[in-house]
Amino acid sequence: MDCDDLLRQLNEYVDGNLAAGVCDEFRAHLRDCNPCQVVVDNVRNTIRLYSDGKEIPLPEACRLKIHDLLKARFQARFAK
Ligand SMILES: [Zn+2]
Repeated sequence: MDCDDLLRQLNEYVDGNLAAGVCDEFRAHLRDCNPCQVVVDNVRNTIRLYSDGKEIPLPEACRLKIHDLLKARFQARFAK
């Protein structure tokens, strides 16, 4: 299995619909291929975030950081 094969079957893998043999090849590829690991992690996290439809509160530190960043951007753009 190469990266293209993996990406083509990514949805099935994440949904748990791959045949066991294919699944093993998938995991073997993932073990050795960092870019594909990142893609799979991202897809999983995205699914987790949206699957229960709940709003997830941001950690306070993160919220403040985003707030500061937006404020700085806003000021850089509009403040004189
Ligand atoms: Zn790969």
